[in-house]
Amino acid sequence: MKSPSSIQLVWFKRDLRTEDHQALATALASGPTVGLFVVEEEWLRSDDFAPCHLQFALECLRDLRVALAEKGVPLLIRQGSMIEVLESLHRQHPIHTLYSHQETSLEWSFNRDLAVGAWCRQHSIPWREFKQFGVVRKLKDRKTWPEKRTRIIERPLIRVNGQIRLESPWPEMIDGVPIPDPAQLKPGAQKGGRTEAHILLRSFFEERGEDYSGSISSPNTAGDGCSRFSPHLAWGTLSLSEVHSAIQKKRSALHSLSRTGKWLRSLEQFESRLWWHCHFIQKLESEPSMEFENVNREFDGMRESEFDDAKFEAWCKGETGFPMIDACMRALHRNGWINFRMRAMLLSFATYQLWLHWKKPAIFLARQFVDFEPGIHYSQVQMQAGVTGINTIRIYSPKKQLLDQDPEGRFIRAHLPELSRVPVSDLAEPHLMPPLLQLESGFQSGVHYPMPIVDPDESYRRAKERIFEWKNRSEVRRAAKGVLNRHTSNT
Ligand SMILES: Cc1cc2nc3c(=O)[nH]c(=O)nc-3n(C[C@H](O)[C@H](O)[C@H](O)COP(=O)(O)OP(=O)(O)OC[C@H]3O[C@@H](n4cnc5c(N)ncnc54)[C@H](O)[C@@H]3O)c2cc1C
Repeated sequence: MKSPSSIQLVWFKRDLRTEDHQALATALASGPTVGLFVVEEEWLRSDDFAPCHLQFALECLRDLRVALAEKGVPLLIRQGSMIEVLESLHRQHPIHTLYSHQETSLEWSFNRDLAVGAWCRQHSIPWREFKQFGVVRKLKDRKTWPEKRTRIIERPLIRVNGQIRLESPWPEMIDGVPIPDPAQLKPGAQKGGRTEAHILLRSFFEERGEDYSGSISSPNTAGDGCSRFSPHLAWGTLSLSEVHSAIQKKRSALHSLSRTGKWLRSLEQFESRLWWHCHFIQKLESEPSMEFENVNREFDGMRESEFDDAKFEAWCKGETGFPMIDACMRALHRNGWINFRMRAMLLSFATYQLWLHWKKPAIFLARQFVDFEPGIHYSQVQMQAGVTGINTIRIYSPKKQLLDQDPEGRFIRAHLPELSRVPVSDLAEPHLMPPLLQLESGFQSGVHYPMPIVDPDESYRRAKERIFEWKNRSEVRRAAKGVLNRHTSNT
């Protein structure tokens, strides 16, 4: 028998909002409710963690605390291991039911969930989990997934009522949590919080989104042209259903106007990205080992023994001697975000031209991305590295990307000041400029800017030869049929 003063505990994780929040709405309908966020030790210690992630989360928590207070709900913020926090709270004030969203993440969080489940059973506390994305746990047949995803996302938004203000018997403590060292943060990173998410939502659907389809490929235009919702979806300051509902609203508004062509095309393309969001996270949900292993195990052994630490380091620092790679990497160091095409190019360059196994580059990029979302990240990394056996092989040429996406060299000059005076015609391969011209342009190859760390043509040719030799092996092709079956739904 639970004590009559027991509480409904909403465990906030990557769902830092109060609107369209099923766990919160259900808890509030059941009794006096308290919110909890734990800065978990396991998270802080995980390989993929970076201070910019904590910074974004803390900014979200500041907004969340205010929004919860308006609903009469106190928010407790603790640092430690989830089980210790639950133990201590339960001792002071019995927990009636634990509510949270269902999380698809990395091994540490899966193990934590197992421990929380066992703790709840041991204390006869029900744990109610709700879906956050269009991802289905224990999905038996991938072919049935599209319909399930549609039902999850295209539902009416959930109204969350408040309660009479509950005085918290514990300190709320947001300022007691360690603040990341500013020197480790990214000066150009997006800000967290529901207020920021709303500003982006409004500007995208009122204005920025019209040219979405024309602006997402170039790093010069993508910053404004893309929605920039990714960290907000990753931390749940926006729900996918809210974004879906905004798309529908925009569509109906457009139908009453005559000039809709560009907007409608952009909305369609944007909506397909939201579909991919869940499609990729479903892969990690169904196959958590993809955090560590090739999805197609027949690629095991292709790159593992050839990891070159010096090349990896040059890639991480943005010092490869390939201006488009280096500019993207340095933009990432600064801003914690870069557009899809450039992410794909960075990973492709690391795994093909540098022939590095994908795991260390994946961890490095995860630590740079403020929007790190494990399911999208590891699926994309494996796809771009060519180790699924089911995706088209794409080996990006940094020179071609520079000529196509930054023909005037604006992006290069903004992020590689050492090349700022190089004529645009030489920006893709500054090391080929005659020494005198280099000096006139204020730099010297190998002194102020590195020589290319690999030969572009040779590394491209060799990577292509090797990946296709592996991809065409009969055992790889056989295993690819299994991958196709497990991870695609033919839509
Ligand atoms: C190697 C690699 C790693 C990536 N890692 C991440 C990651 O950790 N977190 C992350 O959110 N995205 C990741 N992406 C996908 C994509 O680059 C980002 O979602 C996008 O750049 C985010 O910017 P945006 O919100 O403005 O995107 P928009 O173009 O406005 O798209 C809207 C939303 O759709 C989803 N989306 C967009 N593109 C993709 C895609 N290709 N696959 C799956 N979902 C997509 C995202 O949730 C995004 O916020 C990765 C891509 C690559 C190639």
